[in-house]
Amino acid sequence: MKCTDCNKKPGTHLHPFLLCDDCWAERFSTQYINGKDIPFKKLFRENLMKRGLWKEGEEMNDDIKSRCEIEGKKSKWLHGNTVNE
Ligand SMILES: [Zn+2]
Repeated sequence: MKCTDCNKKPGTHLHPFLLCDDCWAERFSTQYINGKDIPFKKLFRENLMKRGLWKEGEEMNDDIKSRCEIEGKKSKWLHGNTVNE
């Protein structure tokens, strides 16, 4: 059976009604931060914008990839400390 929202992907969530993963996340996925439920996609976009990693205007894919690569090499979680040493 197909998702009742997009009518394209198979429905994998039965509650509250038949939805695919993407449509379920679009409607119900939130993060509880500072006493508020914030939609996951909005929070994700704002966090990337704060770090300068959100695509701006008509920016080409190579430009955003370059910025992400530079930012990633700075990250200690991606072994950035060893790259700069
Ligand atoms: Zn769907």
